[in-house]
Amino acid sequence: MAKIFCVANQKGGVGKTTTTVNLAAGLAKVGQRVLMVDLDPQGNATMGSGVDKRSMALSVYDVLLESASVAEAAIHSEKCGYHVLGANRELAGAEVELVELERRDQRLKTALAAVDADYDFVLIDCPPSLSMLTLNGLCSAHGVIVPMQCEYFALEGLTDLVNTIKQVHANLNPDLQIIGLLRVMYDPRITLQQQVSDQLKAHFGDKVFDTVIPRNVRLAEAPSYGLPGVVFDPSARGSQAFITFANEMVDRIRKM
Ligand code: ADP
Ligand code: MG
Repeated sequence: MAKIFCVANQKGGVGKTTTTVNLAAGLAKVGQRVLMVDLDPQGNATMGSGVDKRSMALSVYDVLLESASVAEAAIHSEKCGYHVLGANRELAGAEVELVELERRDQRLKTALAAVDADYDFVLIDCPPSLSMLTLNGLCSAHGVIVPMQCEYFALEGLTDLVNTIKQVHANLNPDLQIIGLLRVMYDPRITLQQQVSDQLKAHFGDKVFDTVIPRNVRLAEAPSYGLPGVVFDPSARGSQAFITFANEMVDRIRKM
């Protein structure tokens, strides 16, 4: 049975896509069968997994509108070692089109149920909003991974996300929980980041992942080669951290 996780944070530029593709590649490297679902119309996770968003015959858009199955629309990225259910600009229209439809927040969940036996992990890259697309992700998932930078307003932004997750848990998806908070783009030389990191641990305890992802230029360069850092330069510090994180996730799942 596949374990399904959303990578979510309603802020943009906090490292959601980087986390999704590198965790997917890291899990694939340690032998897990992985499907990466791109729920962001920007399609960065799609491009960053070596799939050209402009030339896809089918995408997550078709799956949400039930004109294709996940098995039909998913593409195997050979370089990355995982399957990609891609997104492009077409997905921006789904937001409006779904409003008219029944079970509009359950579309992805229903579609993923059909491939449950084919994967160990499904990772969903969410857009930077708490929209109908993100809601489809949250309704499908067993848990949420929240990447965050240890900056001054980080904790404040977290409150909205935590409340949304609580509401979805109470009303739509009783399985949903926060799996953990992942500190990304971390620079231990910056005192403020250390302080926020300490606050985070004081407040969220063991919901804060042990692994910390450092700020690392190789992770930022990798998308321009259409690859996750873990594949582009496996020996880079940031890539090593994501492989450690993949192992931490596998351990956490065993205990779930
Ligand atoms: P989001 O999906 O939340 O909008 P991204 O994953 O696209 O965020 O990251 C935003 C920017 O930060 C991108 O340019 C990405 O390459 C860069 N970035 C993300 N994580 C790191 C990191 N650990 N070190 C350096 N750059 C990073
Ligand atoms: Mg993104």
